Amino acid sequence: MLENSDRIFTNLYGFQGWGLKDAKKRGDWDHTKALISKGKEWIIQEVMASCLRGRGGAGFPTGRKWSFMAKDDGKTPRYLIINADESEPGTCKDRDILRYEPHKLVEGALLSGFAIGAHVGYIYIRGEFYREAEHLETAIREAYEANLLGKNAANSGWDFDLYVHRGAGAYICGEETALLESLEGRKGMPRLKPPFPAVVGLYGCPTIVNNVETIAVIPTILRRGGAWFASIGTPDNTGTKIFCISGHVNTPCNVEEAMGIPLKELIEKYGGGVRGGWDNLLAVIPGGSSVPLIPKDVCETVLMDFTSLAKVKSGLGTAGVIVMDKSTDIVSAIARLSKFYMHESCGQCTPCREGTGWVWRMLTRLADGIGVVEDIDRLEEVTYEIEGHTICALGDAAAWPVQGLIRHFRPELERRLRK
Ligand code: SF4
Repeated sequence: MLENSDRIFTNLYGFQGWGLKDAKKRGDWDHTKALISKGKEWIIQEVMASCLRGRGGAGFPTGRKWSFMAKDDGKTPRYLIINADESEPGTCKDRDILRYEPHKLVEGALLSGFAIGAHVGYIYIRGEFYREAEHLETAIREAYEANLLGKNAANSGWDFDLYVHRGAGAYICGEETALLESLEGRKGMPRLKPPFPAVVGLYGCPTIVNNVETIAVIPTILRRGGAWFASIGTPDNTGTKIFCISGHVNTPCNVEEAMGIPLKELIEKYGGGVRGGWDNLLAVIPGGSSVPLIPKDVCETVLMDFTSLAKVKSGLGTAGVIVMDKSTDIVSAIARLSKFYMHESCGQCTPCREGTGWVWRMLTRLADGIGVVEDIDRLEEVTYEIEGHTICALGDAAAWPVQGLIRHFRPELERRLRK
């Protein structure tokens, strides 16, 4: 269990003010100048030592991502982009950071921007997050007024400007290259990679795209040291993480806990237990809607980290824990997710454009018990034709929940067809 003294987001529930005055009382903007004066290499070294993995879903090591940035030639601008386009069903962690801890993000932006050599940062925020964008803009204005942003930010000698850009509500704009396209004023369509944004990103310049939670923990890592962060959690899965617990639990909530906390403990302790008791549990989607579900027997022992969940053929993703009790029509539930991915496909690649609709139609029929048992095999085969054959990960995200359903609930699908 995470000690209270190790919590980074001490105002996650908004019990205190979110403005600059209250943020400073919580330790934000404390000796920012001194941290910057230690130099870029020191900051990157501490982030590497913390073993922080990106909190947006993929879990790529943040320090390593920064190290991929193209060499600074002193002429080409470099950009920091913060991805606040949180749209993954079941996920609402960045939302509460933006609402109640915006200064952690703004300070993190300055420190991260300095580390990668960027004088400009953009926060791309989901269009529906209207109030959150207001909080963010207020926090940025406060920071400018206090000389914490802009020319000679925080008296550090580094110039850094930060802008908020509101998206228009497309899920695909959370994909980093689609986000860049949208920011440049075009349709949010993912780019082919390579080249990766660290080499050719915004306006063709080296760019780092990081998630809100990733950037918001940077100031605390630098103040308390990479080794402190690395001492929390499990090997390869260090630090604290905000978990979002939703669905059939008694007290849905967001909670910051150590990486690697047992899923059962998370649900029992913070989610107030499964509705109707633990034995009423059917399955859990542990990492936002795009990862495969896991059935109750796996939920008994699995740990909430990237490595443990990959071993049971699921994923930590965004740590959006969706709990489903035995009242759930599991086939219809996954069919509903398929409809979401069909709707959000940008349509660039055929396997995703055609496949997501086909999968949704097939799953809807199976939910109604229409078809033959061989259709289940055909459906599974099609998901493998989509997975890994598309420009971006939305194709995988559409395929994985269906694969999880067939892996763990095939008898239920067959029962419906026989009936
Ligand atoms: Fe667009 Fe889907 Fe291809 Fe991604 S996988 S680029 S969302 S069509």
